[in-house]
Amino acid sequence: MKKEDCIFCRIAGGEIPSKTLYEDEKFRVILDLGPATRGHALILPKEHYADLYELPEDTAAEAMRLAKKMAGIMAGKLHADGFNLVQNNGEAAGQTVMHFHLHLIPRYKNDGQHILWKPQTVSQEELEEIQKQITE
Ligand code: AMP
Ligand code: ZN
Repeated sequence: MKKEDCIFCRIAGGEIPSKTLYEDEKFRVILDLGPATRGHALILPKEHYADLYELPEDTAAEAMRLAKKMAGIMAGKLHADGFNLVQNNGEAAGQTVMHFHLHLIPRYKNDGQHILWKPQTVSQEELEEIQKQITE
């Protein structure tokens, strides 16, 4: 299903033009309009899924296969020194467009970006409690 008022549905479907790097039946890969670095791109499924939780498993697998293929091509052609895959789910995690997308971010030495977090401390007891909470 497409969503009428979803900008990524409209871009993925070709209704709104974009700088497309790749397209097939299920996905469109576009250049991000607010790039973190030179070549920052987004993998968009053509169907509307709000986030990773809604994404069917086979589509998730296909998206990751496509990410690997695009990362290889982009890193080579753009002479990137590194590469980040980023995928945000929910406002608390920084998601601003509620249509699943996978960020492809080529990295360059001294590009001035920080896709990192500030490590916190955690005790063995806390780790055990978290492990139990997730696995039991
Ligand atoms: P997120 O914060 O993970 O939801 O990422 C949304 C991304 O979409 C941001 O990197 C935006 O720069 C990008 N973006 C928003 N609107 C457009 C658009 N019309 N075309 C291309 N990229 C967009
Ligand atoms: Zn959508």
